[in-house]
Amino acid sequence: MKRISSFNCIYAFSPATKPVESVDSGDVLIFETLDALGGQIKTEDDTTQIDFSKVNPATGPVFIFGAKPGKALKIKVLEIEIDTKGVIVAEEGFGVIPEMVKGFVAKILDIKNNLVYFDGLKIPINPMIGVIGVAPEVDEFPTGTAHRHGGNMDTKYIREGSTIYLPIFQEGALLALGDVHALMADGEVCVSACEVTAKVTVKVDVVDWQIKWPIVETNDGYFIIVSLPDINEAFKEATLEAVRILSERLNIPVKSAYMLASLVVDIQVSQLVDPNKTVRAFIPKTVLA
Ligand code: CA
Repeated sequence: MKRISSFNCIYAFSPATKPVESVDSGDVLIFETLDALGGQIKTEDDTTQIDFSKVNPATGPVFIFGAKPGKALKIKVLEIEIDTKGVIVAEEGFGVIPEMVKGFVAKILDIKNNLVYFDGLKIPINPMIGVIGVAPEVDEFPTGTAHRHGGNMDTKYIREGSTIYLPIFQEGALLALGDVHALMADGEVCVSACEVTAKVTVKVDVVDWQIKWPIVETNDGYFIIVSLPDINEAFKEATLEAVRILSERLNIPVKSAYMLASLVVDIQVSQLVDPNKTVRAFIPKTVLA
């Protein structure tokens, strides 16, 4: 099994990026990932000397043989192994309430027995991948920004057992991932989660599925993940894509699919704090069966 070291990391998803490893469709591989702060915060006093060019590292990219534009890359998350310490930060000017903190503050959090220790609270972990993406079509995106290629989607359903489908834009797809969270709630309101280093084991496959945006499949259904600067535009685009998929899969007129979406498709928020905001439309499998 190939293992990609976190020494091989990128800070932007670019069409011109060079792969550090190559695998076949159907292979299982391990990504070792740094935390979203690039491992720079070991104590709560380390906040004064952050190098912001070293945040949001994504390990990779990996070339997948057979991956071609127009197909989709299917990534099954087999295992997420996380560290026993995490860090959460908040920064003036960022987050849902930009004026809540002054400067840049951090808390180091212990993680043991599948619990995050936060002040006096013990909260069950829900390990998830914040950044996962492929080389985009034309423009380069910093790893902190999500779009059609994936990226910093910060979606809590990108976790063990889930399957992520990404549209492929470049030969080999060029998959990279990082920014694992031990725990994050929808919205990620203070601008960060419980950020951890991790080892992520995935199985990659190239499949025939023309998709416009990333899709996350769970046991219960499909989340269409849309990330745009304007959240209202993101809601509209996610709804549009859900209606398109319902209409296609059920072979019903678009107008009917629109009404059906109003009955069964949940529109939800993943994160409100990155340069592009991420929302999702959830289509339950019971409707498609
Ligand atoms: Ca993130």
